[in-house]
Amino acid sequence: MSTQERTDGRSQATSDRNGVIVPCASCGRANRLAFSTLGKTVRCGHCKAPIGAPSSPIEINDSAVFDEAASKSAVPLLVDFWAPWCGPCRMVAPELERVAQANAGRYLVVKVNTDVVTDVAARFAIRSIPTLAVVFGGREIERVTGVRPASEIEAFAARALAAATARAS
Ligand SMILES: [Zn+2]
Repeated sequence: MSTQERTDGRSQATSDRNGVIVPCASCGRANRLAFSTLGKTVRCGHCKAPIGAPSSPIEINDSAVFDEAASKSAVPLLVDFWAPWCGPCRMVAPELERVAQANAGRYLVVKVNTDVVTDVAARFAIRSIPTLAVVFGGREIERVTGVRPASEIEAFAARALAAATARAS
């Protein structure tokens, strides 16, 4: 059981077309992390404290932002297609929080509300939710549907990426 406290910074990360906006844990100023530099060490533009990679799921409400993240992110996206009325999605949400926290800088965990970002949901042909998809280099690598614990989500993502790497070499 984790006793780790959630800081304000973890819950406040947002995104726009130019990247993820994360508050500095030291001074609280908002810092922008470009999608293309996710996974690298970045320092706060104000106080120079190191800014960690996003360690909580990032909500994306705009298809243009999703496309930027999907095509430019230096780390693979783990995309949660969900909707507020979906009970199983609410069960997956805390598992994804754990995955995001344990894999900061390795994956960017992204939440896509299929009722809001309908064109992305249509393009991915999402028919049941929750659907979790690994997206890297603008392409979907693999997906799974349904509720599973954080350990299985991590195993799915690792397996999908290993298979994609093997295919590419
Ligand atoms: Zn700072």
